[in-house]
Amino acid sequence: MAGILVIGSLNMDLVIETPTTPVFGETVFGSGFLTAPGGKGANQAVAAARLGAEVAMVGCVGNDAFGHDLLANLKANRVEAQGIQTLEDIPTGVAVIVVKEGNNFIIVNSGANYSLTPRMIEANEPLIKASAILILQFEVPVECVERAIHIAKRYDTRVLLNPAPAKKLPEETLNKVDILTPNEFECEAITGRPVKSIADAQEASGYLTSRGVKQVLITLGSQGVVYNHADQIVHKPAYPVETVDTTAAGDAFSAAIAVAFSEGMDVDSAVDFGNAAGALTVTRRGAQPSLPTRAEVNHFLEVRTTAKEHKQR
Ligand code: ADP
Repeated sequence: MAGILVIGSLNMDLVIETPTTPVFGETVFGSGFLTAPGGKGANQAVAAARLGAEVAMVGCVGNDAFGHDLLANLKANRVEAQGIQTLEDIPTGVAVIVVKEGNNFIIVNSGANYSLTPRMIEANEPLIKASAILILQFEVPVECVERAIHIAKRYDTRVLLNPAPAKKLPEETLNKVDILTPNEFECEAITGRPVKSIADAQEASGYLTSRGVKQVLITLGSQGVVYNHADQIVHKPAYPVETVDTTAAGDAFSAAIAVAFSEGMDVDSAVDFGNAAGALTVTRRGAQPSLPTRAEVNHFLEVRTTAKEHKQR
């Protein structure tokens, strides 16, 4: 398989809307309860598969109803799930998401995701070797991320690290990363410098490339992306869309970048592809339900490119 391998988390998201924020000891009635597959690892695996890549995933779930559902969901989305271990005596990862007037707070129980071990990563060395791109995030133990990068470097496998949730990472790990996709907060955690503007992101991008990261793409939500191309640091705006829910925009973007590079696109085209995937994701509710297909992204790019050419005439 010369496709994409994701090593990361799988969660079941339990979402509920509440009209008021309860105080301790109080019971309130919520509405709109929904369970939906999530976890950054699984989101990115499903996103890449919907965008047309051959995708495999390595991770852990518990031997419970959520774990079984998450495995079935990967299969339904054509993600090869043989690298997912089902563990006894530990629950599947869960994210409890409470939404009030469009804002939310989230409590994550990592459960089985934190039972992933460097040894399990080593057992999947053939899968790492056979993949064109390895995608990683920080919702599994950092030793696993480091071991995976270490193994990938023995082969031609390119490493894309989406350093979320924010975490500082050691220099010797950073300089082995081929493609880094932080948002502004994650960028700040890595560089130690605040990223509040496009100019800050441009400076941070320069700093990260000087530290050995080959391709830096800093995502700035509705402000688009700052990235390095040849010796330049470029800003590309996001596509203007009607925003409904920004959940999983970063997951769609990172997955799209991996798909684009695995197909040999240059970085400018890859960023257009990633921006389109991110933009489509924010126009819909939820994490995985909002991730677009390849046909949707192609259509979106066609329409937006034609509209731009029209305007320039
Ligand atoms: P994260 O979810 O990791 O914080 P971002 O919010 O930076 O990631 O979003 C990733 C990408 O998704 C952006 O770089 C952009 O391409 C797209 N995107 C995010 N929010 C919007 C938005 N409001 N409008 C259009 N595109 C968006």
